Amino acid sequence: RTRTSADLIRAEEPVLAHNYHPLPVVVARAEGTWVEDVEGNRYLDMLAGYSALNFGHRHPALIEAAHRQLDQLTLTSRAFHNDRLAGFAERLSALTGLDMVLPMNTGAEAVESGIKVARKWAYDVKGVPDGRATVVVAADNFHGRTTTIVSFSTDETARAGFGPFTPGFRVVPYNDLAALEEAVDETTAAVLIEPVQGEAGVIIPDEGYLAGVRELTRRKGCLFIADEIQSGLGRTGRTLAVEHEDVVPDMLLLGKALGGGIVPVSAVVARREVLGVLHPGEHGSTFGGNPLAAAVGTAVVELLETGEFQRRAAELGATLRDGLTELVGKGVTGFRARGLWAGVDVDPALGTGREISERLMREGVLVKDTHGSTIRLAPPLTITAQELGSALAALEKVLA
Ligand code: PLP
Repeated sequence: RTRTSADLIRAEEPVLAHNYHPLPVVVARAEGTWVEDVEGNRYLDMLAGYSALNFGHRHPALIEAAHRQLDQLTLTSRAFHNDRLAGFAERLSALTGLDMVLPMNTGAEAVESGIKVARKWAYDVKGVPDGRATVVVAADNFHGRTTTIVSFSTDETARAGFGPFTPGFRVVPYNDLAALEEAVDETTAAVLIEPVQGEAGVIIPDEGYLAGVRELTRRKGCLFIADEIQSGLGRTGRTLAVEHEDVVPDMLLLGKALGGGIVPVSAVVARREVLGVLHPGEHGSTFGGNPLAAAVGTAVVELLETGEFQRRAAELGATLRDGLTELVGKGVTGFRARGLWAGVDVDPALGTGREISERLMREGVLVKDTHGSTIRLAPPLTITAQELGSALAALEKVLA
């Protein structure tokens, strides 16, 4: 017999590492904003794969690009050129206004690669003595799970038991320009921050912070690296979250939605002076820049070139903000929102974020909690006003 959701959840336990605690839903099919479980129950996806599904599940243009590429060529490695990579890099460079692209696969790989490039830039261009380069990061950051990245995490659960750690990082409070001013010195290769801290609970810095980081890093002669892996590619109502303050960083880290929810695609995008420090043999990835990834990534950039998704995120973001404002005092104690992205603090007396998420699941809405009693909402940017309204109604119901 075919296995039920309960069977499949039970079957995972002995054979899968327990590094996640998923909601008890087993998704088997999806289209647009909706997913369907093994039994055929439908759920509104208000998480969108942590923003990897900004264009919804199986967007027709992305599926078509993937199918077309599957019939032509899927992998060459970078030992050879492939006919899709130049076009992808040209379009991504044009979209971001930065010169060069280093294609990788996952977000953490883009962060790791960005750190390597920044260190090399510090030695080759800035003249920092070898082995002395530092990178300044923000408290409560989330940049991924590799050994080096957890080395500068301030989340004990992410770090405990995984040392020894990579040296060379300084942590300052987020949204604090004075602390940054003090931490940056002649050894500093880069300041690495999220323009909106997603995993921390959708923390939006004060107006002027991103412009301040840009001014400070320029004045002090170090790089500004913006990790837009979660905030970028339409989510906040602009192509990039740094655009809210008209800021152009020296280096952008992109991932998640760049792969259209189909394949892992990430990239370091930077000025020529910065990415130009890499020479043959100094960095690489077997899958980075593969033709399937490049074809899907190109189709993603084409979707973003229309401006439609950024516009939807801005317009429906206003609806989301209005809906959440209505719920303040009715179980919601506060929220932070930018575009179609919100961190919602729920009255702890009503349950943990996990419990609220489980109740929403039973109402046919999938979300994910972050810390304590915070849940985050980040639906596909293709969501309709009506669907958004029903998600907010479900939230109101479970908080009543
Ligand atoms: N950077 C940010 C801002 C993220 O939100 C994430 C993932 O949540 C990452 C990096 C890591 O990406 P990945 O899980 O693809 O390694």
